[in-house]
Amino acid sequence: MALKGTFRRDTIITHAGLDPEANHGIVNPPVYHASTITFPSVAAWDEAHKPGFKGYIYGRYGTPTHRAFTDAVAAMEGGHGTVAFPSGFAAVVGAILAFVKTGDHILMVDSAYFPNRRLCDNFLKNMGIETTYYDPLIGGGIRDLIRPNTKIVYTESPGTGTFEMQDIPVIAAEAHKKGCVVLTDNTWSGGMLFNAFQHGVDVSIHAATKYIVGHSDVMLGTVTCNEASLAAVESSFKSLGYSVGPDDIYLALRGLRTIHVRLKRHEENAMKVAEWLEGRPEVARVLFPALPSHPGHAIWKRDFTGASGLFSVLLKERSKPATDAFLDTLEIFRMGASWGGYESLALPVSNVLHRTAVPWTEKGLLVRLHIGLEDPADLIADLEAGFSRLAQVAKAA
Ligand SMILES: *Cc1c(COP(=O)(O)O)cnc(C)c1O
Repeated sequence: MALKGTFRRDTIITHAGLDPEANHGIVNPPVYHASTITFPSVAAWDEAHKPGFKGYIYGRYGTPTHRAFTDAVAAMEGGHGTVAFPSGFAAVVGAILAFVKTGDHILMVDSAYFPNRRLCDNFLKNMGIETTYYDPLIGGGIRDLIRPNTKIVYTESPGTGTFEMQDIPVIAAEAHKKGCVVLTDNTWSGGMLFNAFQHGVDVSIHAATKYIVGHSDVMLGTVTCNEASLAAVESSFKSLGYSVGPDDIYLALRGLRTIHVRLKRHEENAMKVAEWLEGRPEVARVLFPALPSHPGHAIWKRDFTGASGLFSVLLKERSKPATDAFLDTLEIFRMGASWGGYESLALPVSNVLHRTAVPWTEKGLLVRLHIGLEDPADLIADLEAGFSRLAQVAKAA
């Protein structure tokens, strides 16, 4: 059985969801490959379709492999229950659709993961669901944007690419006064560094693809809910026909067991690289909430227990050939979407171009860095080589 007492977070992450007694004493759960699950009698089949049934009915709804993982994520996050989705974005879609119908209104943070905008501005709009984008720094001012038909206040802190810190407790308090559900995309914290439920959030969404999986080899999402919101998310998962493969679930559970150790190292490395970048003449700003210079540092310190390895750096350089040369010179930092694996990545940030509530006015190139588990001195040397090349190209132009 899972641990029965009250334990600290790292102990919970190590043990939650385990049930060796159910599996010959073997520590990890078996990977059940299942579509059909059989029942011995009509009575047992009928029983399985009564509310509150705790067993397994059909492969699409999950097996004990899935439950080991979702129980562990729920325990890590301190939520009532977790539903696994086939990608992080599928989790965003499933969580939003759980709470809106035609005629409803959503408040979406302007700095949200970009595909959220595509969902809201096309698909949801066509269904008669309206979205208003709001300034991530709005705080208690959110109250003025809440309409009688507003159902969801969607938050993401820090923001994708631009790392604004939202005052989630204040936003959540205002949202709850008007009966809205508060969703947060909690991916940056890995579910470990920000306790969403203690800060007023009802639904915590993760691209588990990132730090939970941690090894750049699985697409997966999770939605962890408080008691009041779980049934709606379970229902939207079933209605949308999603299903998550057992091998992916197993890899995610394997990744989860070390997330606390990995995140510590991501943070240490990221701090070293970010502090070094702050001292560089090529850099206008480092957008990392763990740095005292970050405008959201006080909120980060108040609400978070640590930082992960993702931040952006705003370069002073405006010429594309020079900034392209910088990125192309990097050897350890490869270019690619996603993050949260063991390896370092660099990518130009373009989602800022789509801001509507607070247009992005900076002219220099914004580069998002994911700081991996390499030796930070090698990462710094790699960036230094990139800056040398940038200077050469800028000078020749
Ligand atoms: C990557 C990401 C997602 C989407 O996750 P996928 O697994 O790639 O679908 C959602 N939110 C944030 C903040 C992300 O970075």
